[in-house]
Amino acid sequence: MLTIDEINKNAKECHLCSLRDGAKQVVPGDGNPKARLMLIGEGPGKEEDEQGRPFVGAAGQLLDNILKASKITREEVYIANVVKCRPPRNRNPQQEEINTCKPWLDLQIAAVSPDLIVCLGLTASRAVLGVNDSLHNLRGKWHNFGEIKVLCTYHPAALLRSPRLKIPTWEDFQMVMKEYGTA
Ligand code: SF4
Repeated sequence: MLTIDEINKNAKECHLCSLRDGAKQVVPGDGNPKARLMLIGEGPGKEEDEQGRPFVGAAGQLLDNILKASKITREEVYIANVVKCRPPRNRNPQQEEINTCKPWLDLQIAAVSPDLIVCLGLTASRAVLGVNDSLHNLRGKWHNFGEIKVLCTYHPAALLRSPRLKIPTWEDFQMVMKEYGTA
């Protein structure tokens, strides 16, 4: 099996879909290669595209705060996105782009082999679980993905737009803390 570093090195050379044309670089993900908890978002934004790291913009800072409140450090988790190249003007990735890029995420999940995955937002939730349900229905409970337990919650960018979503998101992270052992 490829290591996470080998997977990410290969992903950085990927030109399998047209998202690569509009992006400055591929942003595979980063964090602890042996993480017990993996966080998965939708795709890189402007800051992530500039810096080559996931969740480094305003949404990333909010995610850092949520992790800190959950007594989890960013260094101990692994963070990746469903698509590895920034969609133009931060639009939602199209299904075809998700399907093309998903094998990279599948390899990353297999390499890290976390106990828990938290899907941040609808795109990640649907892509990881392979369902077409609403986030409202998917969140608030653990799902099984093979041996891995998966929780779906709101994307930090959605919290920046709609602060009322902070309460249900915090409820979800309290479930994470309980399962992860930091409650
Ligand atoms: S978004 Fe994914 S599939 Fe498309 S070019 Fe980037 S790494 Fe490759």
